[in-house]
Amino acid sequence: MDLRLSDEQQMIQKTVRKIMEEKVAPRAAEIDEKAELPRDVIELFKANQIFNLVAPQEYGGLEGQLLTLCIAIEEVSRVCGSSSMILGNQSLGAGPIALWGNESQKAKYLPGIAEGEIFASFALTEPNAGSDVAGMQTRAVLKNNRFIINGNKCFITHADIADVFTVFTKVAVEGKDKITAFLVDTKTPGISLGKKENKMGLRGSSTCSINFEDVEVPEENILGNIGDGFRIALDCLDKGRIMTGSMAVGIARGAMEVAASFAQTRYQFGKPISDNQGIQFMLADMATETEVARAMVRMAAWNYDNKTPDMVKFSAMSKLYATDMVMRTTTDAVQIMGGYGYCKDYPVERMMRDAKIFAIFEGANQIQRLVIARSILK
Ligand SMILES: Cc1cc2nc3c(=O)[nH]c(=O)nc-3n(C[C@H](O)[C@H](O)[C@H](O)COP(=O)(O)OP(=O)(O)OC[C@H]3O[C@@H](n4cnc5c(N)ncnc54)[C@H](O)[C@@H]3O)c2cc1C
Repeated sequence: MDLRLSDEQQMIQKTVRKIMEEKVAPRAAEIDEKAELPRDVIELFKANQIFNLVAPQEYGGLEGQLLTLCIAIEEVSRVCGSSSMILGNQSLGAGPIALWGNESQKAKYLPGIAEGEIFASFALTEPNAGSDVAGMQTRAVLKNNRFIINGNKCFITHADIADVFTVFTKVAVEGKDKITAFLVDTKTPGISLGKKENKMGLRGSSTCSINFEDVEVPEENILGNIGDGFRIALDCLDKGRIMTGSMAVGIARGAMEVAASFAQTRYQFGKPISDNQGIQFMLADMATETEVARAMVRMAAWNYDNKTPDMVKFSAMSKLYATDMVMRTTTDAVQIMGGYGYCKDYPVERMMRDAKIFAIFEGANQIQRLVIARSILK
């Protein structure tokens, strides 16, 4: 395994860092405060061809795609967690098509996704089916060569800007329910958006419920075959979990940098608080844990890109470690900054709120532990 960054990866890292520092950092607090999806950041990503990073190589992407995407996402989330969801969700949305789409499905959507002209969302979760995916109630019924979808999805990232959903449903075949994924254009009659969530963090990223009422889709919109849906969901989440880990690493790094610089300028008892060993030890632990998490995320991404047998285990481990780590790190960043850290004048308050979700979505961390344990006990 060689985790040294190629010249191209270093160039992408530098470019994304520069645009995030120059264009998004001054607006990150406002994006959180307004709780609106930042359209200007979408335009910025488009202009700098950053959406290319979510596409497979034959559709304009890069070799070693996930590792490169993780490097870029870390730079985005270091500055603005909400903005990292734009890139992260575009990758999650592209996943089912890139991994399971046929040639015509790929040709229809992937070039537009890579250019940031088409947005894709991943519609799996339902009010009664979160961790327990198989408990979903959304159903597709075949009638005159067309499937009719009825049901509700909730917590779907960027459903309000999506052009296409991957919708996971149940299809009954000879009395047995088979989880089946469909590509559904969001303008199809019968689709309506429900509640937009008012969230603790990642407030500049929209999260909506979707209602499907007699939504008709042609048979050719099935991804893979009837019954492949569960496998499709897991394949996409294996990738998404590594990406989530990289978002966590970026936020942890951002919080640690802010806290370290504050500690050197905040004087108490006649000296900078960073002169105290108690503060130094906290910073040392934060930096060490962030490095460990980054190494795990990159190792998992390398395993994913190289399709190794350990990929699923490393994906779950990197997600588990990085996302628990970011909660500890951002909480410590607030602690180091005292009352200032708790207020919105400094970004660590936002970073701590943003951090919490990473241990919940893309499979809650309890579920990651089940996946890891299963790989040990198999
Ligand atoms: C901001 C945000 C964005 C999201 N984006 C998307 C999206 O784009 N697409 C999508 O499909 N979904 C999305 N989700 C949904 C997300 O994936 C789910 O919230 C997550 O899978 C957990 O499901 P749940 O919330 O129903 O919790 P539950 O499954 O009800 O779990 C509640 C708690 O019980 C624990 N638990 C459950 N089962 C077990 C078990 N067997 N053993 C031990 N503990 C267990 C969980 O770990 C958790 O701590 C998003 C959610 C949020 C909040």
